[in-house]
Amino acid sequence: MSDNILSVIPADPHWQPAPEAADRTVAIVAELVPALADGFAEVEVSWHDAVAIVDCGANLERIGCPRCAGSVGIDWWNELLETRADDGLATLLAHVPCCGAELSIDTLEYEWPCGFARFEIAVWNPGRDWFTGEELTALADALGRPVRQVLAHI
Ligand SMILES: [Zn+2]
Repeated sequence: MSDNILSVIPADPHWQPAPEAADRTVAIVAELVPALADGFAEVEVSWHDAVAIVDCGANLERIGCPRCAGSVGIDWWNELLETRADDGLATLLAHVPCCGAELSIDTLEYEWPCGFARFEIAVWNPGRDWFTGEELTALADALGRPVRQVLAHI
């Protein structure tokens, strides 16, 4: 049994919304995902003390470097996250293996998208595809900050 998870996170990995803004955004998610009303999908709202990875699971195909356009390597990235898991990703800075540049791993080019966040609205088995640009704008307006989406397959 596998699951699809469509997540909305603030574009800023460190930012958390006020509870009212979070509630407003969850209400809009509920409008955009009919499967929630039907009971086929489930929504899960998470507040993390430290920055957490919101990854796309089996949908991750490649990680590119924005500095040299090389490939960072999914194994390198997995190892990095494992090493840093204990300190709750206190820093996102890392020296990438392709060109040695020091970058925030939040700025790497993930195919499909991944993100880092301290707040997440995750819809399990939404029964729909990505949010459209217009829908993301509505979600960002409700949250009060720009948002990103991650579509995971696990
Ligand atoms: Zn590079």
